[in-house]
Amino acid sequence: MSAKSTKLPVVFVGHGSPMNAIEENRWSEGFRALGAALPRPTAIVAISAHWYVPGTFVTGNDKPPTIHDFGGFPDELYAVQYPAAGDPALARELVSELEAAGHEAALRNDWGLDHGTWSVLHHMRPKADCPVIQLSIDQRLPPAEHVALGRVLAPLRERGVLVLGSGNITHNLRDAFGRMHSGDARTPPWAAQFDAEATSAIERHDHEHLAAMALSDNARLAHPTLDHYLPLLYCAGASQPDDRASFPITGFDLGSLSMRCVVWE
Ligand code: ZN
Repeated sequence: MSAKSTKLPVVFVGHGSPMNAIEENRWSEGFRALGAALPRPTAIVAISAHWYVPGTFVTGNDKPPTIHDFGGFPDELYAVQYPAAGDPALARELVSELEAAGHEAALRNDWGLDHGTWSVLHHMRPKADCPVIQLSIDQRLPPAEHVALGRVLAPLRERGVLVLGSGNITHNLRDAFGRMHSGDARTPPWAAQFDAEATSAIERHDHEHLAAMALSDNARLAHPTLDHYLPLLYCAGASQPDDRASFPITGFDLGSLSMRCVVWE
């Protein structure tokens, strides 16, 4: 079977700290194992927590730059480049498909690959040998709309395109940094509960519940802002009822940061 006819899974990765790009730890090891287990994609559409803007945009550049969108990290991290090609034809097609499904969308050439995308692909596809485009997250939309946008991506899987969401199922940096400074690595109940509730909703394909969780009481602690949760909703939208979900990476970094990764196939 050629790569082109292989239906690709949908993958959500908990990316955590940008340092995972250059550190040897259980998360970077997990990203490498995950990449090695996937068929080679014809292209990758990445939905990163770090392109959270007022609008739905698709990167249209031929050569998307590696964006170091963080501050205060070692030079070694700023030196990392992820030289994957873009795929302007796929980007234009995706914009058309989004518009045909009733969403406003446009190409943008002023973004590239942010660290939500490259910090994991650096391990998953270290040779940067698959074209990558990014789809932004429209911060103005209600949660269910992100699931609907994800549905537009589903048919791309039949053509060997990998839909890759990158965020974290729980993400409260104030809490996580507090634990890092105090050395308290315990997982608080709100984080354990939110992670477990999302897992259960993913397993029963309850995307309505996943969307509703964004507005739940626990979400106010698990996601003071929704940027790291919403990539999961795109992935859920791109999954299909006959997919089985598995969780090749689980656990928490810094006590409260869920590193759970989901594969639907
Ligand atoms: Zn992040």
